[in-house]
Amino acid sequence: RRQPSRRGSMADVPKDLLERITELEHLFTVDASKLKEVMNHFVKELEKGLSKEGGSIPMNPTWVMDYPDGHEEGTFLALDMGGTNLRVCEIILPKEKGEFEIIQSKYKMPEELKTGNSDELWEYIADCIQQFIEYHHEIEELEDMQEHIPLGFTFSYPATQEYIDHGILQRWTKGFDISGVEGKDVAELFENALKKRKLPIKLSALINDTTGTLIASHYTDETMQIGCIFGTGCNAAYMENVGSVPKIAHYNLPPEMPIAINCEYGAFDNEHVVLPRTPYDVIIDNDSPRPGQQSFEKMIAGLYLGELFRLVLVDLHDNKDCQVFENQDISKLRKAYTLDASFLSMIEEDPFENLSETGDLLQRVLGVKANKPELELCRRLAELIGTRAARLSACGVAAICKKKNIETCHVGADGSVFNKYPHFKARGALALREMLDWPKGTKDKVSILPAEDGSGVGAALIAALTIKRVKEGNL
Ligand code: BGC
Ligand code: MG
Repeated sequence: RRQPSRRGSMADVPKDLLERITELEHLFTVDASKLKEVMNHFVKELEKGLSKEGGSIPMNPTWVMDYPDGHEEGTFLALDMGGTNLRVCEIILPKEKGEFEIIQSKYKMPEELKTGNSDELWEYIADCIQQFIEYHHEIEELEDMQEHIPLGFTFSYPATQEYIDHGILQRWTKGFDISGVEGKDVAELFENALKKRKLPIKLSALINDTTGTLIASHYTDETMQIGCIFGTGCNAAYMENVGSVPKIAHYNLPPEMPIAINCEYGAFDNEHVVLPRTPYDVIIDNDSPRPGQQSFEKMIAGLYLGELFRLVLVDLHDNKDCQVFENQDISKLRKAYTLDASFLSMIEEDPFENLSETGDLLQRVLGVKANKPELELCRRLAELIGTRAARLSACGVAAICKKKNIETCHVGADGSVFNKYPHFKARGALALREMLDWPKGTKDKVSILPAEDGSGVGAALIAALTIKRVKEGNL
């Protein structure tokens, strides 16, 4: 395997193209001092989000008021509606501390659903659940069931919650644009679709994937204090004290009581104060269904990495005097969102000195025959976009640590980019080190580690915690 930095092999790249590459390096590189500036601004924005006036980061109270003690038990369903798949899980929590069993089915979210209407969405979801239940249980068993199976619904979009089994969608993110849902209670819409099918299911908790990740990770590792997602979208959750959340002061809860906050920090810097946005980031935002929203997310999340790459290449081909894919038919490259993050992953993972795998990939996916300098450009561009994503991603985690005065902890992370994108973990860890000033040669004080399944097991645990609180009359 070759090293990620291959500056030396730019030797045969013509001068014009080399100049463009240097420009891109300036545009996409975020140095240590910029990282710190971003982190410091981030801390202030987290605070603002908790205040009565609010800010652009929503900082949504989740009504998850405790970590599990490890002895939660029972059978639960979890419904995970993320950015790409729909997943239905049945989870058994045995009495044994920290253990679980899970069976699950995945359903692809049809592309047309993402821009369709509300009814189509909920019907599709209810169909998937019905299929799952009927496949895994006998009809008689279902008819005999005395109690409904509690379900935790992982809805990975920003929602305003006044209770844990309710949530008003603030706005769609991750390219979703389904009419008739924003401003509505998604729990109610979901339950209405379920009712028609007479399934023995009761919605117990509506949760965010980050909250689930926080709770599930803490269930197996008590040093986990932050749960985050680096996937199609990006976000984090952590435990706050009620007393530090002025916007819920009117509930008159004990100030030392813990409450999980779903930051929704994909919305960080929507007012464009600190993030080093490039012209390509501006295009992504303008052409998205919700311009002006999710500024931070649009620079770092999986949904956008391939699109950034594509926009740069098209720009170099059309506008810059450097002969990129000259005289080639780039019509496939002109189609928005044709490339996903896995395309960049494959380029960064190309083990060959002559970048032959990258060449094959460009040929296969885009029908473009690239010469060696163009392949070098693609490799460098993937590195720049992937590195920027990892480094900026770390700013959110560093900011939460700063805000909470956390010196040392584990952070549970999930999502396709974290799990699959090459070097993402190491690049993020280095950025944390630069921001938090750990001395050279010392161990990481904050480590971002693979999380337990938050959207499945986490949702079940939160459903169990909720039922316990209801029984104790603590709601
Ligand atoms: C959503 C968050 C979610 C994150 C990761 C964002 O687009 O707004 O609710 O946690 O993606 O899935
Ligand atoms: Mg997910």
